[in-house]
Amino acid sequence: MIDTHCHLLYDGIHERLDRVLAEARAAGVHGFITIATTTEDAVRGAALAEAHPDVWCTAGIHPLHAADPIDWQDLERAARHTKCVAWGELGLDNHYKEPAPALQLEVLEAQLERIRGWHAEGLVKPVVIHCRRAVPQLLPVLRGSGLPADRFVFHCFTEGPDEARAVLDFGAWISFTGVVTFRSAPEVAAAAKLVPDDRIMCETDAPFLSPEPVRSARPCLPGYVMHTGLFLAALRGTPFDAFERTVDANARRFFGLPEGIGR
Ligand SMILES: [Zn+2]
Repeated sequence: MIDTHCHLLYDGIHERLDRVLAEARAAGVHGFITIATTTEDAVRGAALAEAHPDVWCTAGIHPLHAADPIDWQDLERAARHTKCVAWGELGLDNHYKEPAPALQLEVLEAQLERIRGWHAEGLVKPVVIHCRRAVPQLLPVLRGSGLPADRFVFHCFTEGPDEARAVLDFGAWISFTGVVTFRSAPEVAAAAKLVPDDRIMCETDAPFLSPEPVRSARPCLPGYVMHTGLFLAALRGTPFDAFERTVDANARRFFGLPEGIGR
């Protein structure tokens, strides 16, 4: 499988990255997208992707980092790296009170405006969305951005069927982490059942959110995406092989990864 969303520069992974990647490959994970949350993260992510043939990177500011300094030139430079496959992660997070919602929205809208400009110049990429308890608020903003709906993925989907339907009706993709495997989150599993085969992806969000049956493991590692894949395949009544081929083809198509990555 391809882990479409992990944070390889975060503590718990970065200091032993070679071993973490080797273990993940041995578990059947071939392809990693390390997701940026700050300007610095984007710059370092590009260097990391350059050093590892099966790692790709992104460029964007996470809503919980909305108060951090943004260097737009550095962000653009990171985005122009040949291994940078998406903008993000960007969006809104209503789970935490800080940074203030108004600041999160300001940084989100500033990024969408820049992205529109970069797209006009030919620097075109899909967008990884972080959305926590913010679907009704976020969809109008994304709609108003004028960017194509099918180039957004709602990563780490943690809501129920109604929210999933709203995201799908908008036209975006949905990606699931280990949260979908939690017995305490049956609404997320219900949402995962109704996402069509051509709009679903799979990820770890490592170092966070280890899936069952390794939920207590800290940190979460990219190799654990296999557990989430196995769970989702069983939930959807699909043989794992077929599900793996489906989500890997989806990841290649959405992020423009080379043929031959994943199954
Ligand atoms: Zn993330």
